[in-house]
Amino acid sequence: MKAVAAFPAEKSIRLTDHPDPKLGSPTQVLLRMKQVGVCGTDREIASFQYGTPPPGCDYLVMGHESLGEVTEVGPGVTDLRPGDLVVPMVRRPCLHPECLACRSGRQDFCYTGDFSERGINRAHGFMAPWVVEERQYLNPVPKELAEVAVLVEPLTIAQKALIQVAEVQARMPWEIRHRGPAGQGAGGAGGTADGGGHVHTALVLGAGPVGLLGAMALVTAGYHTWVYSRQQEDDPRVALVKSIGAAYLQSDVVPVDQIAGRTGNLDLVYEATGASSLSFEVLEQLGTNGIFVFTGVPGRKAPISVDTDLLMRNLVLKNQIALGTVNAGKDAFEAAIAAVGEFMRRWPAAVRALITSRTPLAGAPGLLTGPADGIKNVILVDETP
Ligand code: BGC
Repeated sequence: MKAVAAFPAEKSIRLTDHPDPKLGSPTQVLLRMKQVGVCGTDREIASFQYGTPPPGCDYLVMGHESLGEVTEVGPGVTDLRPGDLVVPMVRRPCLHPECLACRSGRQDFCYTGDFSERGINRAHGFMAPWVVEERQYLNPVPKELAEVAVLVEPLTIAQKALIQVAEVQARMPWEIRHRGPAGQGAGGAGGTADGGGHVHTALVLGAGPVGLLGAMALVTAGYHTWVYSRQQEDDPRVALVKSIGAAYLQSDVVPVDQIAGRTGNLDLVYEATGASSLSFEVLEQLGTNGIFVFTGVPGRKAPISVDTDLLMRNLVLKNQIALGTVNAGKDAFEAAIAAVGEFMRRWPAAVRALITSRTPLAGAPGLLTGPADGIKNVILVDETP
């Protein structure tokens, strides 16, 4: 079969012949890949700044944001059948017996760094017509979400963050009383009012797919949500932000040092830009008892100066937390699948508008190496509807 691959030694991204996968154990599943999303990580791999082929192979089949259809299951798989839709997880555990995270099925917290990631690090990905995967790494998706389920993987970033934020903020007893299922908080989209009437405010940095999906997750979780980005007011992304009940701050109009003056106490900042200098400036705006969630992976650039005394004073005197989060566990995948369903009930047009292009597999190399454009670009691995 033809797969989209990165050849690091030749610095080439192209379609290549790749062996058809076959079921190799009773617990495996054969998938026909339907769609694969393209993200910043893929572009870094396509410009040879990131990514590693599997040992002994001179290429890496790319793609990690995916949706597949089950076509065959091994005899040990009893709960999936042909025609079912699934979203595969990305990370696979390291083999070290002492890695408690991987031995607990939480390779997203791997201690050793010897995990692999399909389509990214040491394991082939999903930009191929056929894929074999172990049942334990597949997450079933309702068929009615087929059109947008490729957004599940990038949404797991926000869902993993929100799961951790809920755990951390359980330190404040008044929040525990009001934490409930998404969308059922006391304040709905306008904010979750706690016993003291405090509205939880979140700021999303960046209006790319991770930021916009994060904003949807935060609104659904009951935060009064703001998005801070450089898009001008007439950009369709700004209309999208407003259509989900979030507010928008344009970065030329509102300098970073005025953000908290506009939003009030920032309980949560969800960083989705990968820009470290902006992020550390905004960290100065974080409110009392606030959490700053970093999700971006910046390239290494020249050092910048940061007001470390101010940041350290704030962290201590305001009980703040800076939290980095990568990849996601099964809980976040399940939460993301449920959330995509909830987003489609609330804002079908906005969710559909996140996918701005669909390209056949043969066009993937050009898309990966061409200029970044639109919100989420998707590869239609299977062009049949
Ligand atoms: C992927 C994650 C992965 C991370 C680092 C992201 O684009 O969504 O699954 O862990 O890159 O490789």
